[in-house]
Amino acid sequence: ERARLARLRHTPAVTLDSERVELLANIELPADAPAALMAGATGVGLFRSEFLFMNRDGELPGEDEQFEAYRAAVEAMKGMPVTIRTVDVGADKPLDRMSTSELRHEHVLNPALGLRAIRWCLAEPSMFRQQLRAIYRASAYGKVRLLVPMVAHLSELRMIHEALTRVRQQLTDSGHAFSHVEIGVMIEVPAAAMMLPLMLKHVDFISIGTNDLIQYTLAIDRADEAVAHLYDAWHPAVLQLIAQSISQAHAAGKGVSVCGEMAGDVAFTDLLLAMGLRSFSMHPSQIPAVKQRLLRADASRLASQLPEVLASEDPQQTAQALFSSARSPT
Ligand code: PEP
Ligand code: MG
Repeated sequence: ERARLARLRHTPAVTLDSERVELLANIELPADAPAALMAGATGVGLFRSEFLFMNRDGELPGEDEQFEAYRAAVEAMKGMPVTIRTVDVGADKPLDRMSTSELRHEHVLNPALGLRAIRWCLAEPSMFRQQLRAIYRASAYGKVRLLVPMVAHLSELRMIHEALTRVRQQLTDSGHAFSHVEIGVMIEVPAAAMMLPLMLKHVDFISIGTNDLIQYTLAIDRADEAVAHLYDAWHPAVLQLIAQSISQAHAAGKGVSVCGEMAGDVAFTDLLLAMGLRSFSMHPSQIPAVKQRLLRADASRLASQLPEVLASEDPQQTAQALFSSARSPT
C-alpha cells in the first residue's frame, strides 16, 4: 500500500482522454507543506492564513511574523504556486481576542452573515494592509497568489485593489522586493456566483468555496446540527451555481479551482470533471484517492452526460447511474 501510494505520487494527474488536472493542497500552517508534497500536490490552492491568527492570547501576528510564515510555506513548496487566503475570521471563526477593535462577536445574532472575512479586513484597514504587505514580501521567494474570501460586492473588489496599490507603493518606497501576485476571489456567496462575469473583469482567478456556497445558497448554517441533514452538496441549485461559475471563468479565460470539501471527496470527482473543472484543492490526505479516481475517468464523456445530471430531480442518483459508464473498471 505504501509503495503504491508512493508510485501514485509521481503519476501525472491525467484523465483517460488526456486531460491534465491540477491537484493542489489546502494547508493551515507552513508545517503542512511537506505533507502536501508527499501526497503529490503540485501547489497550495488554499493556505488558510487565519490559523496564524487563532489560538493566541497575545497580539495578532504582525507583518514580519506573517511574512516569515508565508515565506516558509513558499520555500517549502519549492517553486510551486502557493495561494494565500487573506484572513477569514469573524464571528463564525472567532479569535480569542479581536484585539484590533472592540468587536464583541459573542453577541452577534447571525455570525455567518456578519462581519467576517473580507468584511472584517476592510473594517480593519491597517491590519489588512499589514497582511497584504507580508504576502507580497513572500512573493520575492516564489510564486504567490492572493485569494480573498467572502467577496459579494464589486465595491469590495475596488477597495481590495486600492489597498493593493497602496501596499505595493509602500513596499517600493521601503525597498522591499516583491514579484507579480495574481489576485483571486473565493466564490462562496451566491451573489458573487450570479454576477461572476462582472467580478471576473477584476480578478485573475477564482476559487469556489463550496462549504460556504452550500451554506449560503441553501440557508443552512454549516455548524448547526439541527439542520445538518439539509446541508446538501447535491442540491440542484448548488450544482447549477458551481457549473455556471466554472464555465463562466473558462469563457473569460480566468483560472478556476474548487477548494471546498467537494474537491477532496471522490463522490464528486466525476461530477466536477464533467463540469470542466481541471483544478482541485483539498486536504493532502485526500489527494491520492482523487487522483486514482480521475486516472480512470473519461472527461469528455462525463461532460456529455452533465446536462442530464443538472436537469435531474435527483442529481446524485442520476450522476451515479450515468457516470459509472464513463469510468474504466478496477
Ligand atoms: C469553503 O467555504 O468552501 C472554504 C474552502 O473555506 P472555509 O471552509 O475555510 O470557510
Ligand atoms: Mg469559506
